Amino acid sequence: MRGAVLYAPGDVRVEDRPDPVIVEPTDAIIRLTATCICGSDLWPYRGVDAAEGPAPLGHEYVGVVEEVGGEVTTIRPGQFVVGSFWASDNTCEICRSGYQCACVRRVLMGTIGTQAQLARVPLADGTLVATPGMPEADLVPSLLAASDVLGTGWFAAAAAQAGPGRTVAVVGDGAVGLCGVLAARQLGAERIIAMSRHAPRQELARRFGATDIVTERGDDGVAVIREMTGGLGAHSVLEAVGTQESMLQAIRATRPGGHVGFVGVAHDVALPGDLLFDSVVHLHGGPAPVRQYLPELIDLIWSRTIDPGKVFDLALPLDEAAEGYRAMDERRAIKVLLQP
Ligand SMILES: [Zn+2]
Repeated sequence: MRGAVLYAPGDVRVEDRPDPVIVEPTDAIIRLTATCICGSDLWPYRGVDAAEGPAPLGHEYVGVVEEVGGEVTTIRPGQFVVGSFWASDNTCEICRSGYQCACVRRVLMGTIGTQAQLARVPLADGTLVATPGMPEADLVPSLLAASDVLGTGWFAAAAAQAGPGRTVAVVGDGAVGLCGVLAARQLGAERIIAMSRHAPRQELARRFGATDIVTERGDDGVAVIREMTGGLGAHSVLEAVGTQESMLQAIRATRPGGHVGFVGVAHDVALPGDLLFDSVVHLHGGPAPVRQYLPELIDLIWSRTIDPGKVFDLALPLDEAAEGYRAMDERRAIKVLLQP
């Protein structure tokens, strides 16, 4: 099969790799219909995370089941499936509490690499959710978004308690932040403020439900959010970047008693204790338990209630993955879909 591999920072190659095989009896092999590049893939690509190449790339996926192991009971060959970037058994105590991202048997799909034609999915019964049938082609990007960015934006909105009567601010205008806007809208938030200085992203934020756009960031961004909320700060703030600046911006833009949902993969974030103590906010976040939301998200996509696939503004053949990484690194693309 063909698969993308990171050799060194900035050096992505698509090459022939061995076809995956069933290793554990709980595995499934899927043939990918679509895969994509994540903002978090840019950390190793940029050399911020140490990458010991050659390493397989990709953790988002939708596709058709080719083969299942002997202990797989609910997933069958021929089904179209969506799964999370964490494989999870969906049966342990942590999974049953809704935190499949911290399953005691979890496997990170990025270690397997889904920017490929085929992928092995561990714990198939727990990880994969089958769609009601084969999707229309135009639904595939949205189902792919559910695999990570939509589920992650949804978790951010849920963690921040976005809902009726609440003013929500979203820090980060990447695919996750934009999906957070969409989620806040679906959850019934009254006012949704997207923080973005890029016109195409502002436009998509509005389409997804943003009622206001703020272009300022840092201290200025916080001041504007406070000004817009009677000096109090937002009820709910979604953090979808993962830097020191974005975390502080999120916490400081939240009113006392409010909620921060943080889902940007943290890099060198160190929160001052006095700021935390004085803020009187709820903090909840981390890697999203996407699996918890998949059945609901698939229903919303299948019924064409939401269209998160709009975050993909560039589609390339898998063999051109290197160009996809460049486009996202240079912010020429919000999110790149790869066609295996
Ligand atoms: Zn579990």
